[in-house]
Amino acid sequence: MQLTYLIGYTVSMAVPKGFAPPNKTSQDILDAIVALYISGHTAKQAAAAFGKTEYVCLDELKRQGISARKSLPPVGLRKSNQETLDAIVALYQDGQTAEQAAKAFGKDQSVCLDELKRRGIPRRRAGIPKGSRTKKATSQALLDAAVQGYLAGKSADEAAAAVGISGTVCLRALKARGIARREMKGAEWGRKISANRQGVSLDQWHGYASEKWGLVRATPEYVGWRISVFKRDDYRCADCGKRHGKLQAHHIFPKARFPQLLIEIQNGITLCKDCHRAIKGKEMDAAPRYLSLIGSTVAPLVWCKERHR
Ligand SMILES: [Zn+2]
Repeated sequence: MQLTYLIGYTVSMAVPKGFAPPNKTSQDILDAIVALYISGHTAKQAAAAFGKTEYVCLDELKRQGISARKSLPPVGLRKSNQETLDAIVALYQDGQTAEQAAKAFGKDQSVCLDELKRRGIPRRRAGIPKGSRTKKATSQALLDAAVQGYLAGKSADEAAAAVGISGTVCLRALKARGIARREMKGAEWGRKISANRQGVSLDQWHGYASEKWGLVRATPEYVGWRISVFKRDDYRCADCGKRHGKLQAHHIFPKARFPQLLIEIQNGITLCKDCHRAIKGKEMDAAPRYLSLIGSTVAPLVWCKERHR
């Protein structure tokens, strides 16, 4: 027995590795690899999931008559999931450009444009690029239309937005025509103050918990951002150090105004509910301190640009 064993051992050791019979992959595994490939993984990823090399996948694709895809498009153009697309469209419809809306999720603007097309949502007319904007006299017809809107009961901002001019221009037109401004109602004032604090116009302001932000919060990118911020801050309030109670991920630079920093980890900070409430409406004042608390290096660039604009 011992001798047989020894011989067997010796023989198996003597066979050079390259001559070992190929380890045949079962059809079940090959089918699973192909299924992974078809669902969007690369040949290498699909095969690696079962400990195989990409050639196993490519050979099987060939055998099954499935043509291999060309290499994957660049990251920004890869398939986005539906939640993310919903959120991107919501941001676009809220007044952001296709580029801003897509960039908030690290996507290319074509992702937004394709999705708008797919849903049959017409594109807005592209705005005049910043920098090339010149002070142009607003046509009398537009001013009249805005004034009419105001007299019909709209707020100055709403009436102005309806004809594509700024609220300030509308107010000037009212003054020029000797039309006294209505007093703002309490709720309208509240909205105006909130919008001002966030640095957006009234028609872009839909409240702190609008449906749009609900869509944004549901995206995997946003969920991932939140978790990363909590992890980095060791699940403590970065302001007061409290570990227990309800923690919230706060955007140091408000997301309404800086959509490009929506899922930027260096723009996030963990705050307890009390600390978060204490800075509501004073986000920009709190920003420098929060940046230094987490040692952020990305956001100050935006901060400086914003201040010196
Ligand atoms: Zn706190």
